[in-house]
Amino acid sequence: MFGDLFEEDFSFISNNHCGKGKKSKPRDSEPPAPRDFTNLSGIKNQGGTCYLNSLLQTLLFTPEFREALFSLGPEELGTLDDSSKPDAKVRIIPLQLQRLFAQLLLLDQQAASTTDLTESFGWNSNEEMRQHDVQELNRILFSALETSLVGTSGHDLINRLYHGIVVNQIVCKECKNISERQEDFLDLTVAVKGVAGLEEALWNMYVEEEYFENENLYRCGACDKLVEASKSAKLRKLPPFLTISLLRFNFDFEKCERYKETSCYTFPIQINLRPFCEQTEMDDSEYMYELFSVIIHKGGCYGGHYHVYIRDVDELGNWQLQEEEDRLIEDKALRDTENAKEVENPLAVLKGILSEEESKQIPVDQLGQKLLEKKGVSWNKKYRKQYGALRKYLQNHPQTFQFSPDENKVGLKEKHKLLFKSASQEQDFQRPPQKNDVHWNSEKKPTRLRDSSAGCHWFDLNDSKVQPIKEKDIEKQFQGKESAYMLFYRKSQLKRPPEARGNPRYQIPEHLLNEMNAANTELQKKRAECDSANHGIDLRLHLSSCYKFHNGALHPSLTWKENVVDLTIDRRKTLGDLRQSVFQKLESWEGDMILSIAKPLPAGLHLYQILDGDELTLDGIGLADGADIFVWNGKEVGGTKVMTGPDHEPVVINVLRLAEYNEGGKGQHFTESQHVFSCSTKLSDLRRALAPSGGIILKNGSGPDKEAKNWEVFLEGDMKETVKSVGLTDGCSVLILDSHDQSFVNVSSGNLTAFTYDISWLQVKNFCRTEDEEKHVKITATIETVMSDIKMKAIRELQLEEELANDSCLRPVSGNGKLLSPVPEDYTVKEAELKMGSLLGLCHGKAPTSTQLFLYFIVGSDQNTSPEMEIVVEETASVKEGFLKIPIWWFKSSSHMKRGENTPDQVNGMTCKMDALQVSPAGDSPEYIHTDMDLCYAGSIEIAGEASLEDLKMQAMTLPCCQEQIVPLPSFLRAWTVDSKRPGKLLRNNKQQLNDYKLGARVEICIEPLQKEERLGPDELLLRVQMGIPGERDYYDSTDLVWDISKECTTWALRQRVASHYCLPVDKIEIAKYFPEKFEWLPISSWTQQISKRKRKKKQESLQSAPYHLKDGDIIGVKNLLLDDTKDFSTVRDDVGKEKQRQLALEKKKSRQAERLQDHVFSEEKLNIKHRKPEVALSINVGVFR
Ligand SMILES: [Zn+2]
Repeated sequence: MFGDLFEEDFSFISNNHCGKGKKSKPRDSEPPAPRDFTNLSGIKNQGGTCYLNSLLQTLLFTPEFREALFSLGPEELGTLDDSSKPDAKVRIIPLQLQRLFAQLLLLDQQAASTTDLTESFGWNSNEEMRQHDVQELNRILFSALETSLVGTSGHDLINRLYHGIVVNQIVCKECKNISERQEDFLDLTVAVKGVAGLEEALWNMYVEEEYFENENLYRCGACDKLVEASKSAKLRKLPPFLTISLLRFNFDFEKCERYKETSCYTFPIQINLRPFCEQTEMDDSEYMYELFSVIIHKGGCYGGHYHVYIRDVDELGNWQLQEEEDRLIEDKALRDTENAKEVENPLAVLKGILSEEESKQIPVDQLGQKLLEKKGVSWNKKYRKQYGALRKYLQNHPQTFQFSPDENKVGLKEKHKLLFKSASQEQDFQRPPQKNDVHWNSEKKPTRLRDSSAGCHWFDLNDSKVQPIKEKDIEKQFQGKESAYMLFYRKSQLKRPPEARGNPRYQIPEHLLNEMNAANTELQKKRAECDSANHGIDLRLHLSSCYKFHNGALHPSLTWKENVVDLTIDRRKTLGDLRQSVFQKLESWEGDMILSIAKPLPAGLHLYQILDGDELTLDGIGLADGADIFVWNGKEVGGTKVMTGPDHEPVVINVLRLAEYNEGGKGQHFTESQHVFSCSTKLSDLRRALAPSGGIILKNGSGPDKEAKNWEVFLEGDMKETVKSVGLTDGCSVLILDSHDQSFVNVSSGNLTAFTYDISWLQVKNFCRTEDEEKHVKITATIETVMSDIKMKAIRELQLEEELANDSCLRPVSGNGKLLSPVPEDYTVKEAELKMGSLLGLCHGKAPTSTQLFLYFIVGSDQNTSPEMEIVVEETASVKEGFLKIPIWWFKSSSHMKRGENTPDQVNGMTCKMDALQVSPAGDSPEYIHTDMDLCYAGSIEIAGEASLEDLKMQAMTLPCCQEQIVPLPSFLRAWTVDSKRPGKLLRNNKQQLNDYKLGARVEICIEPLQKEERLGPDELLLRVQMGIPGERDYYDSTDLVWDISKECTTWALRQRVASHYCLPVDKIEIAKYFPEKFEWLPISSWTQQISKRKRKKKQESLQSAPYHLKDGDIIGVKNLLLDDTKDFSTVRDDVGKEKQRQLALEKKKSRQAERLQDHVFSEEKLNIKHRKPEVALSINVGVFR
């Protein structure tokens, strides 16, 4: 019923108790730790199995149990080796238990594992591994063992050791007829609630009689009427091992909840069971039992931890040593403090005196006398002032002291008597009047009965941890949250054979001894290997003959690897040993050999101290694993004297200079170069080496971050400093500014005034031609500078009239000198997408506003000769009823562009974009589309819904952009909807009305010019196939492929179509569909996956369904396996695209997380509510013969 009562709650247990949360888990390769000084093995916790561990240790330290188990040989149990054989009869549970016991006794490891055993129980899931009640486990385990041993000589093992009988009797007062009922038990369950201890509980159960009288009469079978009767119970048969389960867990019916009884419950080390037995005439020794195991439960009702105190009866563990140490420490402590304290505390003093008394009570005045005798002080002198009269004091502590009825004598209460176990105790218990004159005091002749080791060899076995304890530590477990839960007594008569003492091998069968010996040998070997591995250090020897000294450091003349000789050596060896090893490694070495510590620095290899003192250990001189050692003559390398030590460390300094415009490519406004200086170089020398006269040096303290505020000018006073003293280290940047670059420096503060990173130039050329000469000027700007500011600066620099500002605009100049459309005044450099360093023309006229459209147009028919005109028109948005306003894009596939037909240069492309930006009816995300294909905004048309697709194409042909192309007929045009800035749906029927296409209000159309006419039928799919370039991650230009899918739209058919298109055998190609929005390629089947022709037709799905969703315009990548065996379809562009997507997703995630933070504060509270898992009954599965 309390199946799930003890679900392990780790929250209040320190980590090492239950094995969870250990920080330094040993690596798998490392052998398990050996036993500690106790020489006993713990058991690992599998995550909630401490209850099992406690019981297993108790059984192990029941020598009679383990020996009975060991006596069962393979002829009865089978062997574990056969356990996988289907027909073999293997009793796997007792076999695993034997093996575990052998490991616990003999294997030199700190803790054994129970996984094999729990597996044999059929416990595989976490559910089954969860904490259960140890009392329940005890019964289930015994039952499983009994079942497992049926038909063997061990069939009665459990019964032999644990079976007892209780007899219940009802005696009729009239006819004296006795009605009797027997009960078997393997353990006795005793009440805790309202009971002071074990003896009282047993007294209530087996001594007290219950009477049937008055209203409550008994029906006697013999008299055949209701009679007065007495009911009693007695122990009829005592087992050799008596297991007591304490009922600490109860149910409070008022509160309707479980609770743990934490009140004090004493139990003796030795107990005489005679008073509770039916037969009482035997010798005392027949009734004496000794405590040898206490399973302790720590925690509350719904969680906890088990550990066990066990008396090591055979003295297998090393207990004495620790005990001795304890005693020494204790004695010292006693001398130092305890003594003084004890004198201070009258309670302890009085308890001490009373506990030493032979008689249970002594007269109060005699107690005062004894105090004076033993401690040398009288009560009145020492304590009266503080504590009052002695008698009063004793009365004030009724929980400790007990008075005789006449209040003349005083003694200790029973529980304190137990705490101060005395050599001889007389009848001393607060019991109701005794019946039958039975002396049930178990401590009557304790000294005679207990052997010399009594009180010794107790251990606390707590999962992996085993610690020696003192017998009196058991008393701590009488009460509280951590308290005794199961008690195990053994009959005192059971004596251990002398040869078993201190001999863990005793009675273990040969095959297990051999197995453990082999396992220990293996463990020792592993530990030895591990030890030498732990002490071995790898050194790297660099030979001076392979090095050259230049640019401030040593550089290998060969590759790095060839210069290094690896050497592994035990760190406990001396430097002399090392030197010897180096000599052996380098047979050809001649002359002095100096070993210097070397370090690879960014500038190269640098040398530090010379290793000296051949008698010192490598560990002692601090030689670490992986250290670099330079082997040389101590003076020079390749004829160059080498400066060593930290004062001469070479430092690589990153030297930045402002770039000429656009010199460093996009976004690079510095040129960078690396220079090496010794860290002792003076700054003045550094400046001389780097800067022209009049130049200054700035230091960046923050590494790669080149923000203005981080730059700091080295002042004249700093010039005496060294590279090291001003904090210039490897990778530090200095900025060199020429005299004319210094306008950004606020010399008084030493800081830059602008974000250096962004500073660059734009050039402005005067196109207003107010003067004869065309002048152009450099205008410094950042990407955030607004165009109108650039214009004003330019006007000033060009020394033009300020009024010109009202009638001028800036227009980018393309590479071939063409003036492009003006940049709006309120745009920043960034918004205008101007490259740093690019040229702008200052022109007459006004820049368009955001609602205006800047158009080029040509008057006349000859494109080449007619002058291009420009016009700014106001964009209007009125559309007639029943008309669609459709933005038209001009589609140029990349293949056309590559061939150079009408290739727009980038700046022209931008012009298109800017126009589109101003007129885009959608108004959202106006982005220039540049994928493999280019969409160029051509303008918008207004067209009736009834018009046909052909009409739309005709009208589109009139747009200026389209006129550049020679398009003879609408059938030379393909029309696509625009979907996510890509061609979407192909509109194939020229005669169909636009309304029937259901294009929607916000449709955009792109028009693709063709080299020849095209009339696609409804069953013809238009694909763009592109052949991979062998050996490269790229493709040749795509070509259009029309594929008839009226018969079959399968993998097989497509492969055939593509193969025939390229005139390749169908088994020599590999094809994949491209998903441009994901930058991914999905291979379309592969040759090896081909299925037979008959099956294929039925099973293969159309490519138009998932996962390919093949549609018009899809890109199909093709690999020619004859030339290219890589099956990777992706391109470098895909990698870039994916990385960008990943970054975007990451940013999105971050911002979402930030949003959620608030919500989390609330939801966390909910999470803290602990939900108890449903109870699971504990069971051990015993298979047939297992
Ligand atoms: Zn009767």
